[in-house]
Amino acid sequence: MRYRELGKTGLRVSELGFGTIPILSGHVPVLPEYFSPDTETAVKIMRMAYDYGCNFYDTAIVEEYGDAETKLGEFVKTVDRSRLVISDKARFYSGGEIYREVLRSAENLGTKPDIYFVHQVDEDNADEVFGRYGALDALYDLKREGRIGFTGIASHYYNVLYRGATDPRVDVLQGSGNILERGMLERIKKEKTFRDKGLIINKVYAAGLLIGPFTVAELIGGILDYPFSSALLGIGTFEQAETAFAEEYPPVRFSFEEVIDRMRAGFDPIACDRCQKCVCPYGHEIHTGFRQFNYYMLGKEFWAIKKLNMDMHEAYRHCVSCREAVCMQDCHRHINIPGELGRIHRLLEAYGDYRLT
Ligand code: SF4
Ligand code: SF4
Repeated sequence: MRYRELGKTGLRVSELGFGTIPILSGHVPVLPEYFSPDTETAVKIMRMAYDYGCNFYDTAIVEEYGDAETKLGEFVKTVDRSRLVISDKARFYSGGEIYREVLRSAENLGTKPDIYFVHQVDEDNADEVFGRYGALDALYDLKREGRIGFTGIASHYYNVLYRGATDPRVDVLQGSGNILERGMLERIKKEKTFRDKGLIINKVYAAGLLIGPFTVAELIGGILDYPFSSALLGIGTFEQAETAFAEEYPPVRFSFEEVIDRMRAGFDPIACDRCQKCVCPYGHEIHTGFRQFNYYMLGKEFWAIKKLNMDMHEAYRHCVSCREAVCMQDCHRHINIPGELGRIHRLLEAYGDYRLT
């Protein structure tokens, strides 16, 4: 296992980290692909990763990741705590709420979290999170009180992560990226503002969807050139832990075109790298729609369709009468955005759970 610096925290984390969603039990409405091992089995799986050199474990509060947080707490009891780096997170945006959650997490983990993230920060809640008495202020206070090691902002949005990178209260950022959705990682790599912060990335396997068109070695090797501190892999079985951590995968250089070509063997993907530079004046999240389309085609039917249904019908209605299509001005992949939104519209119509209003 190779290790990388976690920004300016002084911590060193394993290049590959353990994402705990797949070890939760029950029916928590997060990404699919979890395996419900009992606590004893989950602890053994985490131990296997540890024995291969993994020292970084990421979880979230019970409402978000079910019992993964308490299972991680059980694992912590079985190893040398000083060798572990633990991150936790909660989707609360006011200072008072996240303060309470940090205390609850510390109880569930049986130890102080090394990093605590405000989870799922987006454009709608960012002002509250970063504002006075917001969640970030509270995490900063908790750090000074010694209740957490470092503060973090977790988001799927480049603009939010950039805001975190410019904020001196933030130590670590968590974003998503993989060999397909590499646009945000490319932007972070070029932007020196990010260099002092630790960077954790998730969705390396895209919740397992990219395993098939690509091997684990390609998915891991294909991201190693990006400047992250640790890349989280969702692990729920001994086999997954073995595959992820037993080998040291070498870097693999895949052009984006090669990735899209490989996917074309199964379907005609939307060739969007999710750089997030397209802005629609009507506020439609084009890149999220394109991502869900590709995920649907890769096999995640219900979950992807549900997300597409949340906005894409409205987006298409606007596209039909949109004259300027300003969204396309900054698309470096030269995607016919309204045309692709039309394709999503037709998919949703064919799916039958959709009516144009
Ligand atoms: S073409 Fe569609 S997505 Fe693009 S700016 Fe117009 S309404 Fe928004
Ligand atoms: S549609 Fe183009 S600009 Fe928008 S996220 Fe995808 S690649 Fe980037």
